[in-house]
Amino acid sequence: MKGTTFFANRNSNLWAVRETKRFIFHISPDLVDNPKLKLIIENADARFEKIADILQIDYRSAKANEMYIKINHWIHSNDIFIGNLPPNLSEEDFAKIETLRKTGAIYNGTANSAGVMCQIFTGDVVHFEAQTAHEEAHLIWIAQAGQAPAILNEGVATYAEYLFCGDRNSLKLKLQLAWQKYMPDSELLKNMMTSEFFWSDIQSKTKAHTYDVGAALVLYIIEKWGAEFLRDIFRNTFYEDDNLATLLENKTKQPICCLYDEITKFLE
Ligand SMILES: [Zn+2]
Repeated sequence: MKGTTFFANRNSNLWAVRETKRFIFHISPDLVDNPKLKLIIENADARFEKIADILQIDYRSAKANEMYIKINHWIHSNDIFIGNLPPNLSEEDFAKIETLRKTGAIYNGTANSAGVMCQIFTGDVVHFEAQTAHEEAHLIWIAQAGQAPAILNEGVATYAEYLFCGDRNSLKLKLQLAWQKYMPDSELLKNMMTSEFFWSDIQSKTKAHTYDVGAALVLYIIEKWGAEFLRDIFRNTFYEDDNLATLLENKTKQPICCLYDEITKFLE
């Protein structure tokens, strides 16, 4: 995701480094012997392959391997989170954030061109690996297709995360609930197609549901037109593009209101 307050500054530090075929992990030294974290790293290349398969990305061919650049991955301990909390936080807010952090309910990962700046290892392997898969999916996809406005970026990563953890039925059920609850009309869908609106919209909802709306759009595009069609959309747009709605209308040859109706039907 964009602009995570807590990781605005990743301090220079001493890192323990673990390298796999697909990744270079930089690990906060106090976590290096953590057995649960070791599982995440041992599973990294298998996770990569599963995510690439979900996103229908060729990683097996000789050509794909020639082009492959390893993904950097930073794993922090809890300290950095506390150190980077925004200033002027009330005691009440601080306590709330601490509770969320301890229960693993805050998503602390973020991915950009520097790699996956993920996060705080809370000791919860299931949650951590789902989050890790989400952030890795961003970068595995970006390497093929670049970025798009946030609704599609988060849509792709959330789609991959859910299929990494579950099956198509559980994915569709989750997205159906989000769509029915948070997508009352096509006007909102159109508005969400700029990154600026997408992030501001999250303030009034839960992040999970807004991401799910993006994932519903991605599921629909992949199942109707295929992953290559989605990649082609990405290749013709960029993060700050305000014209995604027009691009989608041209590519799918229908106005956003029809696309909205079709997705609503598809999810019923
Ligand atoms: Zn994301």
